[in-house]
Amino acid sequence: MHRFFLPFSFFIIYNNIPMSPKISVIGAGNVGATTAELIARDGFADVVLFDVHEGIAKGKALDIAEACPLWNSPVSVSGTATFDDTAGSDIIIITAGFPRKPGMSRDDLLHANADVIKEVTEGTVRHSPGSVIIVVTNPMDVMAYTALRVSRFESRRVIGMGGVLDSSRFRTFVAMELGVSPQDVEALVLGGHGDQMVPMPRFTTVKGIPITELLGAKTISRIIERTRNGGAEIVALLKTGSAYYAPAASSVQMAKAILFDEKRLLPCSAYLDGEYGVAGIFVGVPVVLGGSGIEKIVAFELTDEERSMFDRSVSAVRTMIDTLKLP
Ligand code: NAD
Repeated sequence: MHRFFLPFSFFIIYNNIPMSPKISVIGAGNVGATTAELIARDGFADVVLFDVHEGIAKGKALDIAEACPLWNSPVSVSGTATFDDTAGSDIIIITAGFPRKPGMSRDDLLHANADVIKEVTEGTVRHSPGSVIIVVTNPMDVMAYTALRVSRFESRRVIGMGGVLDSSRFRTFVAMELGVSPQDVEALVLGGHGDQMVPMPRFTTVKGIPITELLGAKTISRIIERTRNGGAEIVALLKTGSAYYAPAASSVQMAKAILFDEKRLLPCSAYLDGEYGVAGIFVGVPVVLGGSGIEKIVAFELTDEERSMFDRSVSAVRTMIDTLKLP
């Protein structure tokens, strides 16, 4: 049995040697390096940071490792451009990819990033066949589908990160509007991780009170629009690059739910096989995340309005998947 599926109790005793779980973060750019930093800071797993640019992976990993004594963190952090070093990972978090460059169409980007995902997924299958893959690279739902097709893993072991981030943005904006702590706001966002995401105000609550009881329809629509444009708002402010603190924190929440077998109910991109009347693609739905990955897809009735938004979102993802012509 892969050590990952043993009950996890901080450090696992394996062949009488205490072992920390291992997470490999693929791509040492903004999201990848920040994800590595958060894992190291929390001290719950050893981290391997992999990038095609060896110096960047090694340099950032060394910098993070040198902060571990200050964080009282016992884990090891290393950087590499050799995929073998990721061997035996419990979780692989894929953040590698290209940003959109001037003159590059969405389709060009789609193909370029799909090639990256294929390459790193093949490496994952070779070196960490028992791992759970969390896909972050955009367009995320399509990249998660690519990772599933290439890996041939059970679908519960390939999960896309999008809904946790979108919900966190929704929570933030509701908290700002009401002047309450974001901790007391719960939110749910479904659908594809893109402009067509489906925020769910009727399941968005402040200490259990639906926001529909606390905010007017116009304010809720404004918050929903801001959530949909959450990524673009940050890109416009930064001018170069895109969001990475909240995306990294979202990926780490998912990794912890898996490693600690937390059974968290989180919105994630999952491969649907008939749930919500959809089959054969990845899209954001509530799932139970635990030690074996997605342990359950939680399905419920959508209203007519939610259904039409969800279907639009699904068809946008399906169009991109069809463009890739994967087997
Ligand atoms: P970045 O450009 O800072 O980093 C990407 C890294 O990937 C670079 O260091 C690059 O060298 C590396 N890379 C490229 N090809 C590689 C390969 N074949 N193997 C290993 N590494 C390779 O980008 P970022 O800001 O870190 O974003 C990373 C990805 O995450 C992007 O696709 C971005 O759109 C996506 N993203 C997704 C979400 C989400 O919610 N799902 C949120 C934020 C960012």
